[in-house]
Amino acid sequence: MNCPHHIQWVIEAENGLHQCLQCFDALTKKDVTPKFEDLGPAIQKRWDAHEARAAKPAAPVPA
Ligand SMILES: [Zn+2]
Repeated sequence: MNCPHHIQWVIEAENGLHQCLQCFDALTKKDVTPKFEDLGPAIQKRWDAHEARAAKPAAPVPA
């Protein structure tokens, strides 16, 4: 399966994540179609706000 994760299918999920309704993958900005840079300020702002809501102090990253 090769899902483009179109922005119209993307919903806000828990913990500041976004999720695709077609394939249920958790997404980051670089996964969506069209490119995040091309989505326009309204969507970008909403995305960032949702991420920021769940932003926590830097967690240790497993090596
Ligand atoms: Zn998808």
